[in-house]
This record gives sequence, C-alpha cells and structure tokens, in this order.
Amino acid sequence: MAPVTSPPPPGVGPNADALANTARVAAEQVVAQQVGQVATFLAGGGLASESVDDLSWQVNRLAEIARLRRQLALSSREATKAATAQVPGMLADVAQRAAGGLDVQVQTLTEDLVGALIRMWSGLPTLLTGKAEIIVISAASQVRVGNLTRVQATAQAADRMVAQGIAPARDRAGRQWTAPAYTEMIVRTSVMDAGRTGRETQAVRFGTPYVQVSDALRECPMCRPWEGKILTLDGTDPEGIAQGTLAEARAAGLGHPNCRHLWAGYFPAYSSRVQPTPDSAGWEASKRQRELERRVRAAKLRQQTAETIDPGGLTAQAAKTRVRDAQRQLREHVKATGQRRKPDRERVPQAS
Ligand SMILES: [Zn+2]
Repeated sequence: MAPVTSPPPPGVGPNADALANTARVAAEQVVAQQVGQVATFLAGGGLASESVDDLSWQVNRLAEIARLRRQLALSSREATKAATAQVPGMLADVAQRAAGGLDVQVQTLTEDLVGALIRMWSGLPTLLTGKAEIIVISAASQVRVGNLTRVQATAQAADRMVAQGIAPARDRAGRQWTAPAYTEMIVRTSVMDAGRTGRETQAVRFGTPYVQVSDALRECPMCRPWEGKILTLDGTDPEGIAQGTLAEARAAGLGHPNCRHLWAGYFPAYSSRVQPTPDSAGWEASKRQRELERRVRAAKLRQQTAETIDPGGLTAQAAKTRVRDAQRQLREHVKATGQRRKPDRERVPQAS
C-alpha cells in the first residue's frame, strides 16, 4: 500500500487588489503627466498674449505638434520600461507563492500582460497628439464664431477632451478603456491567473485532479454559482464528486477580467468544503463606489487641465464645482452603504 501523506495547504493567494491598485496609481501618474504636457503645450505659443493673433497662435501650435508628440512618446517609453521591468518578477513570485514554493510556468501570462501594457502606452501619444490638434483647430474657430476669448475657447475644448475620456486601450471584446482602469483590470486579472496557475500546479503535483472554487468577498453575480464548487482539472473524476470541469467553468465566465475568485487543489480525504457567503449588496455598493471614485478623479483631471490653460477661468471654476459635487456624492454613498472610503482612489497625481 502506498504511504498516506497529507497534502500541503494551498499556497498563499495573491494580493491582487494591492498589486492592481499600485499599477493603477502608476498609470494615473503617467496620464496626468501626459495630459499636463498637452495642457502646457496648448497654453504655450502665446495663447494668452494679445500680441499674438489667433491665426499665428494656431499656425505656431500646429507647427510644434511633432515636438509635443516626441515629449509624450518619451513619457510612454518610461512607462513601458517600468512595466517590462516589474511584470515578469511580479507574476513569477505570485505563482510560486500560490504553488507553495513550486516552480510555475508563467511565460505566456507575462508576455500577454507586458504586450498589452506596451500597446496601451505606445498608443497614448498618438491619441493625445490627435486630440491636441483638434483642440487647436476647434478653439481657433470657436473664437471666430463665438464670444469666447482664445484662452477660454482652448480651455473649453481641452475640457471636452478630458471629459470624453482618454481611452488608449481596447480589450478583446472591443471595449475601450482609460489607461488607469485598463491597467488595474489587466494587472488584477493577470495576477489572479498567475495565482490560479500556481494553485493548479500544486494540485497536479500532489496528485489530485480536483480544485475547489473560493468564496470571494463582494463576489460578482456571474461567478456566485461557482463558489464552493468542485471542478476537475483534467476531466477525470475518480471520486464522482466533480460538478464540472474547470475548462467549462472558465468558458462560462469564471475567472473573467477583474474576477476575484481563486481555486485550490481539493483533496477528498483532507480538504474542507468552502461555505459560500453571498454578498450581492456588497458587490453593488463597491461597484457604485468605484464609479463615483472615477468621477472624482475625472473631475480633478479636468480641473488641473483647465487651471493650466486658463487659471481661475470659467472652465476651471466649473470643474472645481464638479469636483466638490462628485466628492459629496461619494461621501453620501459611503455613509449610506457602510463602505470604507479609499482616499488613494480619489486622488489624481499632479502633472510633473
Ligand atoms: Zn468572477
């Protein structure tokens, strides 16, 4: 008879939220920097100077647009370098810890994440340069037809650009994302996948075909039915306890982008069963909170942009009011739902 050895406890699950948030903050910094560069560019060329006429300002800014583009590209290259340097170690570490110290293959996950970040950051300068060009052209024509000064018209046009959202990333479904939201989503998803791969590696190494799905806090409705389910990794089911294959569950949405569920090797004689605790109110409340935080950050970025182009002007004043309104809504939501406020999610870095 083979000796009975007790299986290892599941390796340490990834702290995906913290890693994703750190990556989001870094992305926020890059966006604030690049949008700040665009605002500074728009404010240049004698925007506020009466000795420069509208046409001269427009011609000058369009002539200088290639220089703006190079500046933005430099910032994107820095962001890309940082991602390329950090991602491989981060995912390898997460996977190895989740596997209880075993070596885990995460090369494909790493390449996918690095590739997505590179595509996003290299697309941002082109996007922003195109928008800057449109702002210059539309601001100058606004002055001709309206009763705004050149400074006011430029601040307004730039404000519209930021308000529409700057979305250099596109996911597989074709949906467009802002850089911070996309970074947070793909980092969380990749980190979770690295952790899942680690746990799967551990299960296989210790000879069980089964995994059990975790009970996630504030779980999304799509994955709620999977909590506590036992799935088979390879389709075999010697104990007759599998409630499906992992591949089927994943095809049905388990482990979707931003998903918080994990699974660990299930050893019939040793492992305890997960007791799902449904928390749909928690999911709704935190979803709404994220939405309101995004609104605060967007309002702040609009305010910063307006202040750079037309300090204390109408657009800047309106933006300031908008920031206060968004903050008030957030305060009320947090109070009503008992959620914890996350000040770092309401911050927008200063453009440097
Ligand atoms: Zn999920």
